[in-house]
Amino acid sequence: MPRTFSPSFRNARELASHQLKGLQWTVRHAFEGSSFYRERLEEAGIDPESIRSLDDLRRLPFTDTDDLRDGYPFPLRAVPFEQIVRIHASSGTTGKRKVLAYTQKDLDDWTHFFARAYEMAGVTPLDRVQIAVGYGVWTAGMGFQLGCEKLGALAVPAGPGNVDLQIEFLLDFQSTVFCSTASMALLMAEEIHHRGIADRIHVRKVIYGSERSSVSMRQKISELFGGAELFDIPGLTELYGPGTGIECPDHDCIHYWGDYYLLEVVDPETLRPLPDGEWGEMVVTTLCKEAAPLIRYRTRDITRIIPGPCTCGSILPRHSRIKGRSDDTFKFRGVNIYPSSIDTILSQIPGLGSEYQVHLSRDAESGRDHLRLVVERGAGIERGQLPQLIQDTAHLMKKQLMVTPEVEVVEYGSLPRSEKKSRRVFDERLEDSVV
Ligand code: ZN
Repeated sequence: MPRTFSPSFRNARELASHQLKGLQWTVRHAFEGSSFYRERLEEAGIDPESIRSLDDLRRLPFTDTDDLRDGYPFPLRAVPFEQIVRIHASSGTTGKRKVLAYTQKDLDDWTHFFARAYEMAGVTPLDRVQIAVGYGVWTAGMGFQLGCEKLGALAVPAGPGNVDLQIEFLLDFQSTVFCSTASMALLMAEEIHHRGIADRIHVRKVIYGSERSSVSMRQKISELFGGAELFDIPGLTELYGPGTGIECPDHDCIHYWGDYYLLEVVDPETLRPLPDGEWGEMVVTTLCKEAAPLIRYRTRDITRIIPGPCTCGSILPRHSRIKGRSDDTFKFRGVNIYPSSIDTILSQIPGLGSEYQVHLSRDAESGRDHLRLVVERGAGIERGQLPQLIQDTAHLMKKQLMVTPEVEVVEYGSLPRSEKKSRRVFDERLEDSVV
């Protein structure tokens, strides 16, 4: 099958040359178009003319979510308003949401590489793609939709949730590709199994994003969908949206679009770049993004660069599937939970200490996630008060985070303390052999 959306470079040298031009363009564009970037670059003593090699990337200052919030509602804007044609936003549970602006070229670029993601997953114009993700201001639905139409496949824009409607569409339209979060895919797989309609469903590929998944969960989804092939699709709103790469057809890595952005992996504490193969925080720099370019943007996602050529023959560079978050944010049954929101809840309950641990696990049989919150009681609190403390904590978690935890209250001073940031989130859902 001819690859329409393949990158134009043929080897590592051509890619590096393309990347250098993109980096030079981005630094100059940001410097000239955005007062925020100009100030930041001047502070760091960077003259756009001085970017001569890809190694100069390491001299550039970092950006992060704080810069997005400070610049609300049009952060990092580097073009005049007449060139901006759309905004998208992602949910922010602390403070303002993240809003990103797009020029028409930004949308065209996103559409192009999203089509490439579908193409790499083997989707063709004959496929019918049921898109069961959120539409509207969120990037997900729009990205899946534009890429699908660009490829020439038939889009079924079902939107998220609504299991009955999804099943009806799967049966009536004979959808061959199903796009959703991993949890939604599992829910659908179980529903198909429950209704005994597997032989009437023709889904051959499941493309899922925005959530981590274990090997057992993947196996279960594939099996109950009648042997469908699974593709993890990464992405983030700041970097256009979903579709910034896709799981390799050989299923041992994520290929990412090195012709659209540079990817570094750094130590989240020291911010020093790590050698290939080491786990750290993913930092991205865009090469042609106009409205809101990113320069060394800290994504907080934990991954690693996988060096060397891929068995599938693609020359696109690769990274591991996202393993976690450097800021301890975690996703539980579709809800993003920030450590700060747990701090806030615990501080509302007199009698509890501030030290806690979150243990996440997944039941292998049902595939359901379980959250156990271990929290210290305050100094001098009697044992007799424990049942009430447990009840209050569970109630507030439910009310404010829509999460039903198992709560355990332990002795004051019994949880480990460290001078550096204590590890508080233990995610056992991800004992995962897929890189
Ligand atoms: Zn590959």
